[in-house]
Amino acid sequence: MSKTYHLWTIGCQMNEADSRHLGSQLEALGYRAVEAADNADLVVLNTCVVRQQAEDKAVGRLSSLQSVKARRPDMVVGLMGCMVGMREAPRLRKQFPFVDVFMPPSDAGPLLDFLAERGGVDESVALEARARAIRDAIQDEEHVLPALRRGVTVTANVPVVLGCSHACTFCVIPYRRGAERSVPRERVLQEVRALVEQGVREVMLLGQIVDRYGLDLPGNGDLADLLRDVAAVDGLHRVRFLTSHPNWMTDKLLDTVAEADKICPHIEVPVQAGNDEVLAAMRRGYTAARYRDLIARIRARIPHAAINTDIIVGFPGESAEQFEDTYRLLEDLRLDKIHIAKYSERPKTLAARSLPDSVPADEKERRRKRLEDLHAEVLADKNRRYRGRVVTILVEALQRGRWRGRTPDNRLVFFEHDRDLSGRLVDVRVTWTGPFSLRGELARPRTAAHGLPPLTAVSPG
Ligand code: SAH
Repeated sequence: MSKTYHLWTIGCQMNEADSRHLGSQLEALGYRAVEAADNADLVVLNTCVVRQQAEDKAVGRLSSLQSVKARRPDMVVGLMGCMVGMREAPRLRKQFPFVDVFMPPSDAGPLLDFLAERGGVDESVALEARARAIRDAIQDEEHVLPALRRGVTVTANVPVVLGCSHACTFCVIPYRRGAERSVPRERVLQEVRALVEQGVREVMLLGQIVDRYGLDLPGNGDLADLLRDVAAVDGLHRVRFLTSHPNWMTDKLLDTVAEADKICPHIEVPVQAGNDEVLAAMRRGYTAARYRDLIARIRARIPHAAINTDIIVGFPGESAEQFEDTYRLLEDLRLDKIHIAKYSERPKTLAARSLPDSVPADEKERRRKRLEDLHAEVLADKNRRYRGRVVTILVEALQRGRWRGRTPDNRLVFFEHDRDLSGRLVDVRVTWTGPFSLRGELARPRTAAHGLPPLTAVSPG
């Protein structure tokens, strides 16, 4: 009987990628994934602490695991990700003594070491040997992580920039994921090829400031070069990238996205706030006017691009008038998807050390709701223009009886069909639109490369 593992993941795409890597390493060791933690031989929680709420969920999971561990002391419990960070393990070891092993983000090493040690005691020698082999290979940086068919995914996240050195005053990520470092181009390509071999058809290249890719690796090439190389991988239909920072988006990158069919016209560029004083207090390094210019620059080069953003409401000291600047910015720019978060004080950040969390919870909620309502209105209106159009979607999976896929500009589309179309590009005629998804029916034949007639064909956005 093979050993079983249960992997619980919360947080960003980077965490999902870290979990995929860990899962593939465990499966190389002969472990098999199971749905429930209760009977697994190994349970790993991959955690997020970007906001208090995410941290609370991980702590909740941990306490329920504590009773399972009390019943089954042989079960190995691992804690991974941003809760552990680069240096929180000693503190957490005291707080959660039943946890066997702590792993920083993107680093399965401590668990593999632990399993290798254990293998020497009560497991087969073969297990120990394999764990050591994998560990050594990872240290050599030569090992290409096998991308396993954990549930056969059509899309996969691939980290290309680890860590972050920007230190926005609200953000805990630099403290938990360490300094910025790029993954060498050849390694990224090896991983993408391995994923495609396993059936993946779309990859999302990840970094906290993904546009800074390669700056720390002389001769490696930049993000635009990497995107072109990834897009050229045989069998891959699409590539996306996230997250961009307004200060680092080059015209070369935008032109590359505009020119290459397989690179999706989908830009994630968080603004966080629309007021210059708030932006300065966040240390974002740009003004609202510069962000507006950037959006104009993107739209001039890639007219059909989806531009998504993140907003934090209720940053320390944000007044009602300052918030109105954010509201107006979004009202004017009519972006495509907005991720709205209420400010959450995070340990060690400059904001936590120097600025009181002054906006009351109900006021944060009021601001969040206002933006959410605006957002739903804008999206309902923008999506309405897709009605009757034929869009090319990459089919991802079946969801409640309907196939789910995305347009190149990242709009969710559902349609019904009795054959398994996952992993395929299909043309769908849009018959219904809402703010957050579209519905349609299979159409033939295929139209333009992206399935999107130029936006000028409908009323301008
Ligand atoms: N590197 C990206 C964002 C990473 S974190 C960037 O350039 O900003 C993802 C999102 O979480 C951020 O864009 C921000 O909107 C939100 N976030 C980060 N820290 C937060 C905090 N302390 N409180 C509330 N939201 C936060």
